[in-house]
Amino acid sequence: MLAITCDKCRRRFTPTTEDLQGYLALSHGKKHSLVTCPHCGKGNKVATQRLVQALRFSPAAEAQVTEEAQPETSDSREDASRDS
Ligand SMILES: [Zn+2]
Repeated sequence: MLAITCDKCRRRFTPTTEDLQGYLALSHGKKHSLVTCPHCGKGNKVATQRLVQALRFSPAAEAQVTEEAQPETSDSREDASRDS
């Protein structure tokens, strides 16, 4: 979880994983991303690297990676053994 202290109102907030992914998508490879404070609505410059690290350690992001890595099916192997 990434805790950010707002530069404008000095209040702390923690963007959700979905928020972080959104900010990361908007960063376009720049060094800093603009993270909006939910208290005052002002944008805070946060190093994109910090967003990447926060996402890396979030359980939601891990679950997504596991979902994409699907196990191979053994259908073709079964067909081969049936022929012989
Ligand atoms: Zn603020």
